[in-house]
Amino acid sequence: MNDNFEKIKPFLIDYVNEITQPSRNGGKNHCICPLCGSGAGYDHSGTFTVYPDTDRYCCFVCGTKGDIFDLYGAMYL
Ligand SMILES: [Zn+2]
Repeated sequence: MNDNFEKIKPFLIDYVNEITQPSRNGGKNHCICPLCGSGAGYDHSGTFTVYPDTDRYCCFVCGTKGDIFDLYGAMYL
């Protein structure tokens, strides 16, 4: 990954933390999906999962997945 990506990455991680609310089931790294809104916790699912080790994410309902750059692109591009 090139240097510019490495520089912007911390900002994007903060941003993702802002837009994804923790799921009510308290599952680790389980969030509400910012794209489809799933994972609100009513069905006790942690639909939208973030993997901090690799900065990747995955939503098991709408099937979106990728890294944080993909997420940003999916929302705004
Ligand atoms: Zn989703």
